[in-house]
Amino acid sequence: MSDKEVNAVVSQRIEVSPYLIILRVVPDGWELPDFTPGQFAALALPGSAPRYRFSDPEEEALDPDKLIKRAYSIASSSVEREYVEFYITLVRSGALTPRLFALEIGDRLWLSRKFPGTFKLSEAPDDANIVFAATGTGLAPYMSMLRSDFECGDSRRIAVLHGASHSWDLGYRAELITMQRLCRNFTYIPIISRPDDEPTSWTGQVGHMQELWSSGALDKVWGAHPKPSDTHIFLCGNPLMIEGMVETLAKEGFTEQIRKEPGTVHLERFW
Ligand SMILES: Cc1cc2nc3c(=O)[nH]c(=O)nc-3n(C[C@H](O)[C@H](O)[C@H](O)COP(=O)(O)OP(=O)(O)OC[C@H]3O[C@@H](n4cnc5c(N)ncnc54)[C@H](O)[C@@H]3O)c2cc1C
Repeated sequence: MSDKEVNAVVSQRIEVSPYLIILRVVPDGWELPDFTPGQFAALALPGSAPRYRFSDPEEEALDPDKLIKRAYSIASSSVEREYVEFYITLVRSGALTPRLFALEIGDRLWLSRKFPGTFKLSEAPDDANIVFAATGTGLAPYMSMLRSDFECGDSRRIAVLHGASHSWDLGYRAELITMQRLCRNFTYIPIISRPDDEPTSWTGQVGHMQELWSSGALDKVWGAHPKPSDTHIFLCGNPLMIEGMVETLAKEGFTEQIRKEPGTVHLERFW
């Protein structure tokens, strides 16, 4: 099978909402490469693949034979050898996501044979507390890190701060709530930006990531506000959230890690 052919199969499709899916992909006749949690794969489909019913029509027809490739962070554990899992949001006008959303269990797609990326938990020292801040599907690499490397009951504290528009957009919520209930060193704080759309009143955090950071909600659980001397912050997802958080954190002495230049803030931009 050449690398230009669709070489993998959808083994699970979980609809979190009509605009968010969890997709499990199994290589067909080849072995998944080793990877480090936080890394990403590329997925692709040809222009001839059908588009999802809730997407916008394409203005210009794409080459039916050419593969449309995009990067997706791996959400599954690096210990899992059978499948790789992805958490994907629909870009209604996009080229690839409307085609990925139209996939059913058993459908074929292209999966890269290399999983690159430098967004890794090992960028932070072992004894630092960790804050994983994400908007939307920016949660994906953290799910892989938690599922692979999290030590429940360890002295290292880990917090997941997850921002979304609505409560029903908070993917992996049940898994994260369970982790929080079972592990005293794990904190999960979701925040939603559109509480007026909720079917029943939302009693959790409201607003955006910077507001959550400054609200003191995490400080209350940890007993103190995280400092650059004891905590590393990971940011993933929407570039606007990342820029806002980098600015807020810089005022508190957190510095961005840039290539080999060490820092206490680690970033992955999705676009
Ligand atoms: C390293 C890396 C990891 C990524 N991991 C994920 C992931 O785990 N899950 C995921 O859903 N996407 C992820 N992305 C984004 C993904 O690669 C695509 O850009 C996205 O799915 C849109 O593809 P498309 O062909 O449908 O849209 P395109 O036709 O390529 O349109 C691109 C435009 O869509 C918008 N856009 C892109 N991504 C998003 C998004 N997540 N939410 C809202 N708007 C967006 C931006 O305006 C962007 O300019 C990742 C990107 C990178 C670089």
